[in-house]
Amino acid sequence: MPGVPPVNRSPLVVVGSANADLVVRVGRRPLPGETVRGGDLAVHPGGKGANQAVAAARLGGRVTLLARVGDDSHGALLTRALREAGVDFPAFPYGNRPTGTALIVVGPDGDNSIVVSPGANALLSPADIAEQRERLAAARVLSLQLEIPLDTVTAAVGAAGPITRVVLNPSPPTDLPAEVLARCDPLVLNQHEARHLLGVDTAPEEAAVALLARGPRSVVITLGAEGALVAEGDGTTTRVPGEEVAVVDTTGAGDAFTAALAWRLSEGDGLTPAVRYAVHVGAEAVSGAGAQSLSPRGRTPGPAVT
Ligand code: ATP
Repeated sequence: MPGVPPVNRSPLVVVGSANADLVVRVGRRPLPGETVRGGDLAVHPGGKGANQAVAAARLGGRVTLLARVGDDSHGALLTRALREAGVDFPAFPYGNRPTGTALIVVGPDGDNSIVVSPGANALLSPADIAEQRERLAAARVLSLQLEIPLDTVTAAVGAAGPITRVVLNPSPPTDLPAEVLARCDPLVLNQHEARHLLGVDTAPEEAAVALLARGPRSVVITLGAEGALVAEGDGTTTRVPGEEVAVVDTTGAGDAFTAALAWRLSEGDGLTPAVRYAVHVGAEAVSGAGAQSLSPRGRTPGPAVT
């Protein structure tokens, strides 16, 4: 139809969260009822969906992010950052909620305490997904996390085309409907998330097999410095060793890993080669070489306490 712009069909579609990360460093955490003085406030674009979309775009992928922001300065910051990174970020109408926010206090050892306020992320709805059905049905990979309503995750998986491969990172960990689990190829999670979903602490191989029994077509467990474990639907498991690097900051390694994995799968790689590449990108992220994340939390400059 003349005058109607064609819908951008990216091979990789991410459906997830977009947050402003508000970061302050402190020399000591406040006790209940106490006030402490911190360093200067740093505001970064972030959120798992936005982080993964930007990381995949920086690696070279054509990526669409379906996420909601509010009609405020944080929403404008995110929109600008996503578009600058080359992410296709279709606009949804603003609702009555502010942009999602993560309030991050970085302690003296670099350890984070985080309060997440979902804001506009809670408005991303199954109706939004229905509106974007064309983009989802054409995607080669649909990548999801759980910082948006579970109904919306379920709707997105339902809208995925028959050839779309669903990559789901259950973070924060929540029990998933059977129809969602059945499409995951892979379910990609760290050991903490695996422990949470299974309710027991087992060796990664056993955890992967127990997770496979719940229905996903494959499972990838990230193992920090140890790399990752791939478990295929037939129960075969393969360890992909980690790369030895000088660690600068491990924050965001998981998002960089998942972004790289989803991108390589969207380019047609098999699961194990895609995981090998993702392990490499995860190592780059922790060594500070990759600059993969939108939100370099641990790398926030500035004094601890003024
Ligand atoms: P985060 O929550 O910190 O973003 P995560 O807990 O979700 O990360 P990890 O398993 O810690 O995920 O790391 C993801 C990937 O990053 C690993 O599979 C590995 O490739 C890489 N990685 C993480 N830590 C290290 C490390 N110390 N040395 C080398 N590679 C690492």
